[in-house]
Amino acid sequence: MSVRLVIFDLDDTLYPEIQFVYSGFLKVSEYLSKKLDIDRLKLFEFLISSFEKGIRRNNFDLLLEKFGIEEDVGTLVQIYRNHYPKISLYPDSKYILEYLKSRTFKIALITDGYPVTQFNKIGALRLTRYLDAISVNDISRGESKLYEKSFLKVLKALDVQPDKAVYVGDAPEKDFVVPNKLGMCSVRVIRKEGLYSSKDDNSEFPPDYKITSLVKLKEILEGN
Ligand SMILES: [Mg+2]
Repeated sequence: MSVRLVIFDLDDTLYPEIQFVYSGFLKVSEYLSKKLDIDRLKLFEFLISSFEKGIRRNNFDLLLEKFGIEEDVGTLVQIYRNHYPKISLYPDSKYILEYLKSRTFKIALITDGYPVTQFNKIGALRLTRYLDAISVNDISRGESKLYEKSFLKVLKALDVQPDKAVYVGDAPEKDFVVPNKLGMCSVRVIRKEGLYSSKDDNSEFPPDYKITSLVKLKEILEGN
């Protein structure tokens, strides 16, 4: 096969998702700090320490409780989800995107999340200059990479057969299910600090390749 299209996942594949988390925590801390005259760093530090303890769901409830703040937690969640984040690409992401562009590969993105959140990330990372197609699966509507729809849409839009396409992601449970079913090449990037770095492959849908840096993608593509 000669690959013509490389499709990337976004979070923890092209940039470190922890940056988004911290960026959102800072926005929420600034909002409450302005409104209530509480030191924003104290709020920010509390949010970070709760996150580092592994808390992922009720971080804002705990914050309000800890500081005795009367505030609708839904407002904080909206600030977090809708904020325009300060995030940046991994150096190897930038390298491989430049490489692919210079070699006239088609490049696309398929990501799961809230559309406003994911499009703000895409904007902040200035990714549109590289991308020929973007598909965001809206998780609030039950869409996900586990369904073929977004993959078929991108393949069709760019007029590429599945066996000429690669999917690169980090989440072993969900990222390679459809690519493998469709006969695409699948590549798992394992980054030390990534959320899924210690997770085993999905035994039913393992990736074709595993790499620790996107620079290695070049060898995979050149070998094909
Ligand atoms: Mg990911």
